[in-house]
Parts: sequence; structure tokens; C-alpha cells
Amino acid sequence: MPKYVYGFAEGSRDMKDLLGGKGANLAEMVGLGLPVPPGFTITTEACRSYLQRGAEPPELAEQVQAHLADLEKAMGKRLGHPTDPLLVSVRSGARFSMPGMMETVLNVGLTDRSVAGLARAAADERFAWDSYRRLVQMFGRTVLGIDGALFDEALERAKAERHTTNDLDLDAADLRAVVDAFKAIVRAESGREFPQDPREQLTLAVRAVFDSWNAPRAVSYRRQERIPGGLGTAVNVVAMVFGNLGPDSGTGVAFTRDPATGRPGVYGDYLANAQGEDVVAGVRNTRPLTELEQLDRASYRRLLEIMRILERHYRDLCDIEFTIERGTLWILQTRVGKRTAAAAFVVACQLVDEGLIDLDEALRRVSGDQLGQLMFPRFDAEAPKRLLTVGMNASPGAATGVVVFDSAAAVTRARSGQGVILVRRETNPDDLDGMIAAKGVLTSRGGRTSHAAVVARGMGRTCVCGAEELVVDERARRLLAPGGVEVAEGEVLSIDGSTGEVFLGEVPVVDSPVVEYFQGSIDPAGPQADELVRAVHRLIGHADARRRLQVRANADTGQDAERARRFGAQGIGLCRSEHLFLGERRELVERLVLAETDADRAAALAEMLPVQRAEVIELFRAMDGLPVTIRLLDPPLHEFLPDLTELAVRVGIAEERGEVADRDVALLAAVRRLHESNPMFGLRGVRLGIVLPGLFGMQVRAIAQAAAHVRADGVEVRAEIMVPLVGAVQELQAAVDEATAVLAEEGRAAGVPLDALIGTMIELPRAALTAGTIAEAAQFFSFGTNDLTQTTWGFSRDDVEGSFFATYLECGVFAVSPFESLDAEGVGRLIRIAVAEGRRTRADLKLGVCGEHGGDPASVHFFHQAGLDYVSCSPFRIPIARLEAGRAAVLERLESSR
Ligand code: PEP
Ligand code: MG
Repeated sequence: MPKYVYGFAEGSRDMKDLLGGKGANLAEMVGLGLPVPPGFTITTEACRSYLQRGAEPPELAEQVQAHLADLEKAMGKRLGHPTDPLLVSVRSGARFSMPGMMETVLNVGLTDRSVAGLARAAADERFAWDSYRRLVQMFGRTVLGIDGALFDEALERAKAERHTTNDLDLDAADLRAVVDAFKAIVRAESGREFPQDPREQLTLAVRAVFDSWNAPRAVSYRRQERIPGGLGTAVNVVAMVFGNLGPDSGTGVAFTRDPATGRPGVYGDYLANAQGEDVVAGVRNTRPLTELEQLDRASYRRLLEIMRILERHYRDLCDIEFTIERGTLWILQTRVGKRTAAAAFVVACQLVDEGLIDLDEALRRVSGDQLGQLMFPRFDAEAPKRLLTVGMNASPGAATGVVVFDSAAAVTRARSGQGVILVRRETNPDDLDGMIAAKGVLTSRGGRTSHAAVVARGMGRTCVCGAEELVVDERARRLLAPGGVEVAEGEVLSIDGSTGEVFLGEVPVVDSPVVEYFQGSIDPAGPQADELVRAVHRLIGHADARRRLQVRANADTGQDAERARRFGAQGIGLCRSEHLFLGERRELVERLVLAETDADRAAALAEMLPVQRAEVIELFRAMDGLPVTIRLLDPPLHEFLPDLTELAVRVGIAEERGEVADRDVALLAAVRRLHESNPMFGLRGVRLGIVLPGLFGMQVRAIAQAAAHVRADGVEVRAEIMVPLVGAVQELQAAVDEATAVLAEEGRAAGVPLDALIGTMIELPRAALTAGTIAEAAQFFSFGTNDLTQTTWGFSRDDVEGSFFATYLECGVFAVSPFESLDAEGVGRLIRIAVAEGRRTRADLKLGVCGEHGGDPASVHFFHQAGLDYVSCSPFRIPIARLEAGRAAVLERLESSR
């Protein structure tokens, strides 16, 4: 019989797949002897079975019954008993943390009868009715699917009648009336009475948690975080402890280090006389955790001691939810805490210094995505700014954009290309799409552990929360700031998630210190370097020491190449030579296309040569001693020519006026002749070299002359000549023959031969499948994964983004665009075939990649595993690729040591 329910004493932190993160960590803490209220966990397997069958597995009820009986025995109370009732919480807890996305029901077991028993047992009538109203409210919304706003409004009305805005001002009689109002809402909206059988409450609450796995916001969150949809959630049933039992009770969240900066210290929020959902929902503004020391010194001390125990045990920053019930501390949850990118780097290095982890593990704990976030720009400190207010610095970064007041508007405006700041009183899980679309999130309520803060940090979105001075009127779509300033939807605000500052209008942004460090303007050992810069320096250094993959840059100009070198590039993996002849110099190619005689063609090529040579000279100088891969002309010819329609109109008008130029007529004829329906699959790449004799030869000559020129100045040249879009070895061989002849000729002229490598891009499935033969003519392969993706899938890379990709992502054909992150299964298979067959032909075949995927973290891991020699990516992504290449090597070590 499958075991669907585990008591806390039966589990451990290694059982997250089955017990979910929360259940596994609760079990672990029980094992550590920490004060966790007793309870049990219903497994993710039970949830999966329920979701598949549409009903609980038949064994579940009996197993829950048996564990409930144990729990009742341990507590000496019966669930929902009229005199001294046991109450339980029913909490979701999936394998991966999905904060606030799924459901929780507290105080299960309260009924019209047991509420009186609870009041007597606790000697506190207000508390009992407060707990009951919370149950009806949560149960109504979560289990019965009633609009939560109806309950909120009824509660607001009760407060208004008392002329207060604070729920603590409601007494027992008020709350009793609120319960009546809530039950009436349940009756009216669901057509049934609020259930008075505690067992039924429990069964329905568990079912609602199972169902919440597929709630739209949970589905959305999983897509964003790339969490598989089939895992299901576990459900934790835990004996209630009460933070709402008066001023000596309360609830809070603690972090063992600052999750924003990584600094050690006491960090968190506390709310006296409250239950957990009040903290997360930002219902009342929380107090800093340090104030707990004054309120309850003993609990505070015990909490700090437990924080230390947990951090040493998990060897990482932990976050903890706790409740104090009349002076007794209970730990309700812990997990390795979410943190900002900066905190991830800083904490990892601190833990190394504290001897808790080694550098390999520190490297595994940071990611290229996080490093990318740290390279975001910040607000210019010197720029004039108009400070509107200061809130809490919940998630760092600098964001400027137009203000919107709801998720839908954020999505619409972002789609139209605007930067958006989503402003809300407080966010809830339904705002997720808007938060994803926005550049930044600003709320007027809630602390650093509010929903807005937690979710924004997880996504790397800038967030300022709890900006209390702002009055956010979501309905009127405006906010009021101190001094009578009004900001309407569509006006611009700038928010600084590192300081909590909110500015009116747009503020200019500047480079981050991490970028300045990579550029060499901050010395990591100097006084300008802060803890973050030092941590980045240390971990990227370790990555460099560990990685097997080299990292090169895609750079077209000397300037790009210099920047790339500062960022750590070990060469140029792709110089797209066409950039020289697009734009203003288009005419040079036009002349080549229009040439009718060999002499005309030679004259056109002679004009192109010095342009090409000058550029390559700069690249060689910038990369002195490092390899420079220059790709011969690749794009469809028509890209160099005028637009057909525009030219036809121009010629038509000129003809009418009798002023038509012969050159234009010839040009129009050429443009018509070269017009293609699918230019990406037309006359481009190596095909150009074959159709336009002398073109590739001119480029190779320019490279050879550039080499001879800079060598005279002592520059060490390592040239690599790359032929694009090859499908058959015969195409490549023609280009290689031409290049070899030119190199020999120029070598003779210069008196020194240039031993450039000649290789090819692998961009077509046919090239990958015949790589063994192609390698006979190639000294290196560079995988052009942009084209290889488009040609493998048959997706036009220029059209897909605005077309059906959104739908494909939504219905899960892929979790991320294959143009962003390599399709390891399909495109990756072609790469593996080409690697194996290419090396079989030529053992020293050099292998690299220069498509966009070269700077994508997941793809870098694939390229490492596939055994490539290097990745090449845009200069700004070089540090990311270096870090991920190091992580790939370290992960491989770990795997092989297991
Ligand atoms: C590629 O196809 O991956 C590539 C690098 O070439 P381009 O993007 O210039 O076509
Ligand atoms: Mg290409």
C-alpha cells in the first residue's frame, strides 16, 4: 500500500520530492530538537494521484485518520472538540518554494460550538472569535472559491463602525458580528452553510490545497521560474499555535543574514498579536525584528540561538517563520532563504571564510543570471532628482518607467515597449503577470517580507515596498504623495530598490560597480571595492581556475574587442565582417553587384579591400596574442541593396519626369533579379563567395595584409578565417582553395607566410550530419546556433518572436525560446554528432560556438558537456559565460565524485 502520510518524525530534508520543501524541513527541524508544533505531511504523490484521478486515492482518508489520532494524542486534545479543541493549519508546500502561490487554511477545527471551548480554554473570548473569523474568511475564499474582497469589505465596514482602521480595536462582540457577516457571505455566495464538522473542514481544506497547484497564478509562477508542472504539492497539517493571543504573542519572519545585501545581523519583521498571514499580506505594517528584544527578551534570545543552529546545519542563509504564543517560541517553517544576487555572492564568500563551505560550493551557489543582474545600471548619483518619498529597499536595482496601477495595464504597456512601474497598495499572487512585465514594483504597504518584496527579489525585479506616505488609489489610477503631489497613470517615476527612494520623473542611470570592476576601473583590492566587488572577484577568479571552456567575444570593431578583453575575453570567436559594408558603405557592394566586366568587379573589390584591412588591423591590435576569428561575408545579398519597393517607386517617378538615371535602372534590375522570398535560406554565406568570384579572396587578402602590417609593430597575430553557412564539403573546399592561394600569394609578398586557420561555421543540419567529411577541409568548427536553431526547427529567426512563440510558450511546447537557450534535445543532438564525427576525422579540430547561446547559462553547461573548446558571446555576457563555464566544471567534478 503506498504511504501517503508521514509524521514529522519520519521525514528528513532529503525527502523534498515526496514531502515538499516545507514538510522536509519541518521534519529536519524535529530531528534537530527544535520547537516545531507536531503535525504530519501528506505527500506530493497523493496530490499527483488526486490531480490525475480527480479524487483522493482511496487509502488517503484512513492514513490521515491514523496520523490525526496520533496528533490528538500528542496534544491531548481532539480536533474541533467543543470544550478544548485541537485546531490545525493546512499548508501547501511544494518541492520548490512558490511563495504565496498556493493555499493555506488556518484554524481548521473551529465551529459554532468549539469557538466557545477555545474562548474558555484560552481565557480570551476576543482571540477565539478572531480565530474563527479568520477561518471562515480563509476557508470561504480558498475552499469555497468566494471572492476574498467580500470578506475584506465586511471587515472594513466593521472597523469603520468602530471608527478605526486597526483590526486590534475590534472586541469580541465586534468579531462575533463579523463571523455572522462572514457566514452570511458563505451562505449567499456558495449556497451552503459554513461546515460545522471539523473532519469535513479538514478534508475540504486538503483538497483545496491540492487544487491550488493548478491555480492560474501558480501555473504562471512555475512557467516564470521554470518549475515542472507535474510535481504537485505536499500538504502539511500542523497543530495550531497562536500568535494572536494578546500582546505577549505574535508572529514574524527572520533571516539569518540580510537577504538584500548579505550582511550578517538580525534581520526580519515582527507583528505582535497577529497570525502569519498578516505579515505576508502586509495587513498591518510590521516592526523590525530587533524590537522583539524589548518585547520578549527570552524568546528573542532563543530565536537568535535557533537561527545560529539552522544556519550551521544548513550551511546557508535560512529564513524562518515563527510564532510566539504567550511567551513560548515555535518555529513554523524554515528554508534556505531566497536572496538578491548581491547577497548570493556576498553570503557565499562569507560562508567560505567561516569554514562552512569550500570555494567550489560557493561557486555552485551563485549563477550567471545573478551576475547579470549585478551588472545592471544604477541611478546616477550626480543627476538632479526630485525625491517623492522613501520606502523600504526590498529588491535592488534602478527602474524608471510609466506608472500603472494594475497587472493588466502593466502587461499591455510593456507589450507596447514601454518601461513600466507597477504601483499597488500591496501585491497579491494575482499581480504576478504584471510584476513579470514591469521593470519595477512599488507598494505603499507591507514589509520586506511582503508578497511584493519576496516575489520581486526572486525574479530580480527592482522593488520598493511599504512606502507609507503614498496614498495609492487603484480605482482612480493615481497616487498622492507628500506635499500634495499627484501622479496619474502614464506619468513617469523612478524607483531605487537599493535605497528605497522614489523619484518623480526619469532619473539617468550609470554603470554598476561590478561592471566598473570588470572594466578595470575599480581595483578589487583597493579601497573603492566593496564587499560585493570583492566577492565577485573571488568567485569569478575561482571559476576561471576551474573552467575547461575558453570564453571569447563576438566583436566587430576594435573598440568592442578592447572592451571584451577587459571583460576577460580570450579571443574573438566571431567578427561579422558584413557590419563594415552595411550602412554607409553599402554602395561598395552595390558596385560589386552591378559590375558587368572583370575589370569593373576588380575595381569594386579594390575599393572594399582597404576598408576591410583597416578594421582587421584594429582587431589584431586589440587582441594581440589572442585568436581572432573573422567570418567572411554572410548576409543575404539583398541586405546590401536598396529596398525593392522604394527603388521601384523612385525609378517610376523619375521616369515620369524623364530624369531617370541609368545606374538606378541597372540597380533596379539587379535588385529584382536578386529578390528572394526566403532570403535567409537564399543567396548568403558561402554561396555568395561562390557566386561572386573574388569576394572572399579580397577579404582573405585584407586579413593577410593586416597581419603583415601589425606584425611589423610586434603584434602577435593568431588569425582564424571562418566560412559561413556551409552545407557541403565541396562549398567549403572551394572557399578554402581560394583562401589558401591568396594567403600563399600574400605571404610571398610580405616575405613571411601567414599560417591562419581556415574553418567553417556549422549552421545547417546537413553540415552537422556530414561533419566527418566537412572536417577534412576545416581546421575548426564554430557552431552558429542561431542559424542552426532556425534551420533545425524550420522557424524563421526574424519572424517568430512576434508571431506564434507566445502561444508556444504558453502551451508548453517549450519552456523558453530555443533561440535564447539551446534546445539540447534537437539542436544539441546535431552538435554532439558533429563534435564526434568532426574529431574522428581530425583529432585536433578546434570546436567553438558563436551563436547567442554562447552567453546563455544553461547552454554554456551543455557546451561544456559536449566537449567544445570555447564559447563566444557578446562582450557584456563574457563574465556570465566565464562564471557558468566554471560552474559547469565544478558540477561535473561533483557528479563524478558521487
Ligand atoms: C549564428 O547563426 O549562430 C551566427 C553566429 O551567425 P549570425 O547570427 O550572424 O547568422
Ligand atoms: Mg549564422
